[in-house]
Amino acid sequence: MTLTPVNGGWIEIICGPMFSGKTEELIRRLVRAQIAKQRVAIFKPSTDNRYEEDFIVSHNQRKIQSIQVKKTQSILDHKDDADVFGIDEAQFFDDSIVSVCKDLANCGRRVVIAGLEKDYLGKSFGPMPQLLVDAEYITKVNAICMSCGDPANYSHRISREKKQVVVGETDKYEALCRSCYVQSKEDV
Ligand code: ADP
Ligand code: MG
Ligand code: ZN
Repeated sequence: MTLTPVNGGWIEIICGPMFSGKTEELIRRLVRAQIAKQRVAIFKPSTDNRYEEDFIVSHNQRKIQSIQVKKTQSILDHKDDADVFGIDEAQFFDDSIVSVCKDLANCGRRVVIAGLEKDYLGKSFGPMPQLLVDAEYITKVNAICMSCGDPANYSHRISREKKQVVVGETDKYEALCRSCYVQSKEDV
């Protein structure tokens, strides 16, 4: 992403499996915007209760202040407070996150979204497909396969729970490459 618009807003997405550095990259971009003296507002869904309520935190312990969202539309209440909007764990929002992000971008805001594009079964996750359709810029990051060290594009659930949304960490998930992920399915 070398050229960005000067005459209007846009949507950029950072996607990939768990542990791939999405939150790390989101924080990096938002901190750089703060250094540029842009007003930044950061949101996360209330589903993600893993760490502190008022921060988004990456697995390597970088953090940045954020607002926990109960009602997706409430993000729009901050439209005039910020130039750059950061959203983490976008897959956990309901479908109205799509119109909220479009509205912000249409009003000249930069919207930076991080989220899992697929769940532990490899199926698309929540509103991510439509967000990816609407985004001007997409960065896909890989984790490191916990089994063989190759680039990992899959979040493998180690626990036996079957619901799509089970919030967890290395106790419940591991990043796997394609061949180790396929292998793990055959082992079941
Ligand atoms: P995400 O938001 O995509 O889950 P984070 O940005 O929170 O990822 O964390 C990325 C960090 O996680 C890496 O910098 C690294 O320190 C750590 N990490 C732990 N497990 C892995 C893994 N399997 N592959 C890559 N990084 C990992
Ligand atoms: Mg994250
Ligand atoms: Zn592997």
